Amino acid sequence: MNANAATLERLRWKKFPVLDDGFVCLVDAMGDDAAVVQAARVSYQAGTRAVSDDRTLIRYLMRHRHTTPFEMAEVKLLVRVPMDCWRQWIRHRTASINETSTRYSIAIDASQTTPPDRWRLQAASNRQGSEGFLDAQAGAEFSAEEAALQQHAKAAYRKRLERGIAREQARKDLPLSTYTEAYWKIDLHNLLHFLELRMDALAQREIRDYAGAIGREIVRPLFPLVWEAFEDYRLHALDLSRLEQEVVGRLAAAGKLPADEEAFLAACGADWKNLPRCRERDECRAKLVRLGLIREV
Ligand SMILES: Cc1cc2nc3c(=O)[nH]c(=O)nc-3n(C[C@H](O)[C@H](O)[C@H](O)COP(=O)(O)OP(=O)(O)OC[C@H]3O[C@@H](n4cnc5c(N)ncnc54)[C@H](O)[C@@H]3O)c2cc1C
Repeated sequence: MNANAATLERLRWKKFPVLDDGFVCLVDAMGDDAAVVQAARVSYQAGTRAVSDDRTLIRYLMRHRHTTPFEMAEVKLLVRVPMDCWRQWIRHRTASINETSTRYSIAIDASQTTPPDRWRLQAASNRQGSEGFLDAQAGAEFSAEEAALQQHAKAAYRKRLERGIAREQARKDLPLSTYTEAYWKIDLHNLLHFLELRMDALAQREIRDYAGAIGREIVRPLFPLVWEAFEDYRLHALDLSRLEQEVVGRLAAAGKLPADEEAFLAACGADWKNLPRCRERDECRAKLVRLGLIREV
């Protein structure tokens, strides 16, 4: 048994818990780091082996956004996810999916619940995001209300089924917190794309938890060299647009690095300078803070 086969057997059917009742679970995988390398080398026959070892080649492919070598590997998962989170998940069209049917079967009798100290507050700056938590005392009211709503919806669903109402119609008022299960199969290239988007700080907390579990618990051990390159060149990389490079250039030329807010604003191009609000300028500032080129106030 080679190292990857042993890893596959160790991981297969192991449920990695996510949220209060969800999980991700590896069903099967095809390929490994070597499969990516093998596919890339077919272009050059054996010619590249002398100049680049596997790790170097994978890092080159990732850095230069080659795609098809990573499509040679595939991962099949079984996932258990609340329906609201699943709704975001299935926007990724490049996977093959089979989901539990609540027309054929009775819906899973589990809903995601929110502890009193986990109600997130609406972010002020990002309309799609959240920041901070409601205090637990206030949150207790919402958690109790959540439990009552879920109970009520489940009772109505069960009553409809008991009266012989079709499952396809009885389900219509089940809350989006209801868990669903699905097989989800995707090639490694598109999986990394999913992980890049859904492990990002801008993704919603719940799907971020799933993406983190898939990435760290499954992809990393199965594809260690690919994962390392993915972390270095995609997950923790930072792109600088032409406009952003010009800001850094102006700050450097003026000897203003690290910059304060005034110097940063002065170095911004005409497009950004005079706007009261500018998301692109905010994103540029955040990147320069991350690089230590702007002093945080
Ligand atoms: C933080 C965040 C916020 C979001 N907010 C919203 C929102 O407010 N509203 C909303 O509707 N969606 C939202 N989305 C969903 C987002 O717009 C994408 O639909 C989703 O992330 C899937 O991305 P994708 O199309 O790149 O992935 P996939 O569907 O997996 O596709 C992978 C790649 O394949 C290619 N591809 C796939 N299908 C086609 C096609 N038919 N034609 C051409 N190329 C194709 C594209 O290059 C694509 O990037 C959000 C996503 C994120 C991560």
